[in-house]
Formats: sequence, structure tokens, C-alpha cells
Amino acid sequence: MTSNNHSQNRALQQDARAWSEFTGINYTAALRQMQKPLAQGILGERVSARQLIATLEDHPLIGGTGDDFVLGESGFYADNSWSFDGENDYIELALITEALRMFSPLAKTETPEVGSYTLKHTVEALLTDTPAAYVSNGRLIWAAAALGLPIAEYDGGSSLNLLIGVPDNEHDYLFKMVRSGQTRPQGHHFRPPGYEHLQAALARCAAGEPAGDPWVRPAPVVEEPATFHAWLLAQADRDEPIGDFATDYAEGIRTSAHRIAQTPDELVLLLNELTHSPEAYDAARAAIGEWLGTMEPSPGIRTMRISSHREDVGGYGAGSGDMERLEYRCPCGYGRIVEEHDNIPGFREHSHRIDCGQCREEWRFLEGRSVRDWALEPVL
Ligand SMILES: [Zn+2]
Repeated sequence: MTSNNHSQNRALQQDARAWSEFTGINYTAALRQMQKPLAQGILGERVSARQLIATLEDHPLIGGTGDDFVLGESGFYADNSWSFDGENDYIELALITEALRMFSPLAKTETPEVGSYTLKHTVEALLTDTPAAYVSNGRLIWAAAALGLPIAEYDGGSSLNLLIGVPDNEHDYLFKMVRSGQTRPQGHHFRPPGYEHLQAALARCAAGEPAGDPWVRPAPVVEEPATFHAWLLAQADRDEPIGDFATDYAEGIRTSAHRIAQTPDELVLLLNELTHSPEAYDAARAAIGEWLGTMEPSPGIRTMRISSHREDVGGYGAGSGDMERLEYRCPCGYGRIVEEHDNIPGFREHSHRIDCGQCREEWRFLEGRSVRDWALEPVL
């Protein structure tokens, strides 16, 4: 046994002893819980039982006063203390901790705004196939406090529930992802960073395997201020069609109803997939035109390629060549853009055309670009 293993083992035994004393169950039962694959730490280190116990004693908001407990099974200043079953109580707290670890840390300037009672139901839905399929309000608050998340009372106090410092938009995403009766998110920009890793690890544990490799928290995404997305959001207060369209777009992002469009190309693709009115499409086209007009030279837009075909052909006396035909979706989504190249000695031709009556009226090829390098701009 290496000295590292030895000290880990020692920490485990000390933890099991502390948990056994605190909960009044026997030492072997406590140790057995701590050795389960689910309790080995999934999105971080194994949860320390001694840290959990110390939190109930010392935490500035939920820590006890003398012999009295402040936090109980039902919540903040609950009438009931804790009821430990000796089978799963530690594993439950470890799993709740993992669920809370998946979120991005709240910015220092943000105040907690997700209610513990709502959050506990969301965590239950996430952990439905685990020993934490039922999560008490008190245990949710306890795990959050032990993890060091910001915690606050509701205005006016006197509630069993507290506010927990996880990002509201990430909780909203998770809520729609795991709770029944919800429309699942179509955009994943607010997916909690540890969500997929945790789901995969829980599935492995459910299949009787170890949880797998440790998780590495990704670096936070820094929003690029100069994107089409940022520009479009900034148009939302305009009192005309582009403003209305930008307002609808911003709402779809806020509720994870659709993806972020970092570029006009991505917006066109998004509109191809979503149900929208002709007015919304016209406003989007106008917005794209205005955005492209701010750039010198305009990059135009490109659309999705739908097919590519190359064929060898006999030449006209001077040897053989090939013909190439590429097709792209037109911006409205109902027709095509066709690009053709005849590479035959003595007969070379490169051409493109918009094969859609509506788009031929509404879009044109940018001037000064080669056929292969085509891009479109709106006709406004
Ligand atoms: Zn079209």
C-alpha cells in the first residue's frame, strides 16, 4: 500500500467514525456507505463527512447555536431535526453535493435567487434513479452550505426555504431538462458545465461500474462582444420590426428555447428550423443587412451545403476532365443555391445561381468574389 493510499484510507476511517458518532449508526454501516462508487466523488473530491458536520456547527447562517439546531430536515428553523437511516444518508448528501457542483460559480456581484424548495425538486428529478430520489429541503440547504455556495434568506425572513447561489438560467435549463411536463431546451448555452459528465457517471454507477475519470471544470466562456448575437441583443429596444425581432430572439435565448446565433449564417440556419412568420423573416433579413453594412468589406452570408457531386467526363479532343456540382440551401430554406464547375480542357466554366424564386428577389451574390467563394447579401 502506498503512503497516499494509506492516508486516504485513514481519512475515510476518520470520516466514517465521525459520521457514525454524529448520526448514531454503527461504524461499519457508515464505512460501507462511504465505500460505494456513488460516494467516491464525481465532479470533485469525495465529500468530507467531517466538513458536513462542521457546517451544521459553524456556518454563519445555518450553524447551530449551543445545543439547538438551526437547520432541520424541513429547512431553516424547522420543527424537526434530522432522521438518519444509516443506509443512504451520507450517499444522499454526497449526491446532492454532486448535483450542486455541476453549476457555474455565481459571480461575486450576484445574489442567490434560486429557492431551495424549487432546487430540491429539480435535484430529485435529476437523481431519480439513485438513493437520493427523495431530497429534503434541509439536506439541499445543508449540502449547498457545506460546498460553500452563497446562501441567503428571503426578504423578510421567516421561511423554511433559503435562496441558493446557483445561476438562475442554468437552473432553469436543468429544470426543463429533467422535470416532467416541461418542453426540453433547444439551446444549450445555459447547460450547467458538469451536467453531461454527471449524467454519464450516474449511468455507469447504475450499471455497477465505477464512476469514471475525474471531471475537469471547463474554463468559463468569455462572451465575444463584437458578435452578431451581441449586436442583435442590443437592438431589442428599437421600436420597429428589427427591435421586435431582437426582443423575440432575446426571449428565446433566455428560456433556452433556441440556440445562440453568433453569426448571420447561424441565424439563417436557426430560422430554417424554427416556425416563424413572414414578418419575422423579413425583419431578420433587414437585421442581417444592417449588420453586414457595419463591416468593411461585408463578409455576406453562406448557407448550409446539401450536396456535392463530381463526375469524370471525356474531353473535347484535348483529354478528359470533370464536372462538379455543389448545392446549398437557399436562405429561406425552400430552394437551393447551385454552384457548377466544368473542368474540361478547352471548356472551363464556373457559375452559380439562386434556384429559388423568393430568394432571387430578396438576396444577391456579393460582387468581386470568385464563384467558389460566393456569399449573399440581402436586397433591401
Ligand atoms: Zn429561398
